[in-house]
Amino acid sequence: MTTAQTNTTPLTVDIAIVGGAMAGATLALGLAKLSASQSRPLRIALIEAHVANNNHPGFDARSIAIAQGSIFELTRLGIWPKLQHLGTAIENIHVSDRGHFGMTELNAKPLGLDALGQVVELAQVGKVLFDELTKSPVSLFCPAKVTDIQAQQDGHLVSLDDGTQLHCQLLVAADGAHSVVRQQLQQTTEIIDFDQTAIVANVITNQAHQHWAYERFTQTGPIALLPMTSVPSAPSAQSRFSLVWAVPPAKADELKHADKTEFLAALQQAFGHRVGRFIDVGQRASYPLTLSYMPRPIFHRCVFVGNAAQTLHPIAGQGFNLGLRDVIGLLDVIENALTQANVNAKTEVDVGSSAIVHQYLAARQGDRDTTLRNIEFLVRGFSNQYWPLVAGRNIGLRLLSWFPPLKRPVAHTAMGWR
Ligand SMILES: Cc1cc2nc3c(=O)[nH]c(=O)nc-3n(C[C@H](O)[C@H](O)[C@H](O)COP(=O)(O)OP(=O)(O)OC[C@H]3O[C@@H](n4cnc5c(N)ncnc54)[C@H](O)[C@@H]3O)c2cc1C
Repeated sequence: MTTAQTNTTPLTVDIAIVGGAMAGATLALGLAKLSASQSRPLRIALIEAHVANNNHPGFDARSIAIAQGSIFELTRLGIWPKLQHLGTAIENIHVSDRGHFGMTELNAKPLGLDALGQVVELAQVGKVLFDELTKSPVSLFCPAKVTDIQAQQDGHLVSLDDGTQLHCQLLVAADGAHSVVRQQLQQTTEIIDFDQTAIVANVITNQAHQHWAYERFTQTGPIALLPMTSVPSAPSAQSRFSLVWAVPPAKADELKHADKTEFLAALQQAFGHRVGRFIDVGQRASYPLTLSYMPRPIFHRCVFVGNAAQTLHPIAGQGFNLGLRDVIGLLDVIENALTQANVNAKTEVDVGSSAIVHQYLAARQGDRDTTLRNIEFLVRGFSNQYWPLVAGRNIGLRLLSWFPPLKRPVAHTAMGWR
C-alpha cells in the first residue's frame, strides 16, 4: 500500500476511484492485477470515507448472495480465493407466492454445479478486501472524503477533505446511491420509489438450512432468507439465515421496534413453516427501497459503477452482482486499450479518453437495461393482488416446476452469467 500523505501540489494518477466498498474495492484490486503485467503500471488511487470497521456504510451487518457467475469473475480477479472461507453455498432456491399455489425450485445439481451462489457477510468481506488493498500498489486515501471535483480538459482535479488534491485522467464514481461525484458533476438520476422498506436481520430457526435459500412473495412485499454459517455453540439442527423482509414503511417501523416475541410471531405468520420455527432474531436494520438509475452512467473522463450508477430493490439479490458486471465491463475496456497500445508499441494510454468512456457505456447498456426492467417487473408483479396478475405469476411459477428445461434461462439470469 502507498498511504498517501497530505499534499499541497496535486498528485498525478491515471485512475482515481471514489468509494471503496464492494464495487470500488473490487475494481481497485482488479486494476492492480491488470496493471501488474504492464511495462508501465497504472497509477491507481482509491478514496474511501470510512475505515473497514463496524460503522462502515458499505460493509455493514448485511449479508448478500453473490451469484455463481459473479463468483466465477471474482475467482478470475484472484479475489474469491481470499473470501471463500467466509461463504455459505446456496445449493437450492425455493420460490413461492404466499397464499397461492405458485411455487418452484432452482437447483444447482441438474445444472452440473455445486452451488447457485454464495452468501457472505459484508462486514467480514470488507476487512479482507481492505487487507488486500493495503498489500497492493493502490494508493489508498482512507479515511478521506471527496469534497470538490473540477473537470479539466485532460482529466479531473479531485479535492479531499484533508486538503489533498489528485489529478486523474479517469475518475470512477463508486460512491454509492447518494454519489457525491454525481452531485458535483450535476448528473441526473431517475428514481422509482416502491413505497417499501426492507427490514434486515439475522434470524435463527430450529431446523438445519441444508443450503436452501427462500424467496417468498407476500401481499405486502417479498421475504428473502439466505442460509448463513452456523453459530458454533448452537445445536446442529439450528440454522442462521439472513432475512430481508420488504414491507410498507409504517409496518417496517412497527416491526423494527417490536419486541422479539412479537417480531418472531409476525415473521412466522408471514413466511409460514417451511424453514421450521423462528426462534431468535438479532439486531434489526431498515433500508428504504427505491430503484435509482442513471440513464447514461458516464460523463467527460468519468464513469459510474455499482450503486452510484444504479441502486436496485434487493428483491432478487442482484445489486452487487450487477455492480460487479460494471466493474468487469470497465476492466475489459481498459485491458483492450492497454493490449492495443502494446500491439502498436505505444508507451502511453489515455485511460480517460472519450473512446474508453463510450466503450464502457456501450458495453453496459444492454445488461443494465434488462436487469432493471426485470427487477421492476418482479417488484410490481409480485406485490400486486390484481387477480389476472396473481393468476399469471402463479401459472408462471408452476410452469417452471412442471417443465424443468424452462428453469435453465431463469437460473442463468439469477446466477448472473455473462
Ligand atoms: C437489504 C439489502 C440486501 C441486499 N442483498 C443483496 C444480495 O443478496 N445480492 C447482491 O448482489 N446485492 C445485494 N444488495 C445490494 C448490495 O449490497 C449493493 O449493491 C452493494 O453493496 C453496493 O456496493 P457499492 O460499492 O456500489 O456502493 P456502497 O456500498 O454504497 O459504497 C459506497 C462507498 O463510497 C463511500 N463514499 C461515499 N461518498 C464518499 C466520498 N465523498 N468520498 C469518499 N468515499 C465516499 C462510502 O463510504 C461507501 O464505502 C442488497 C442491498 C440491500 C440494501
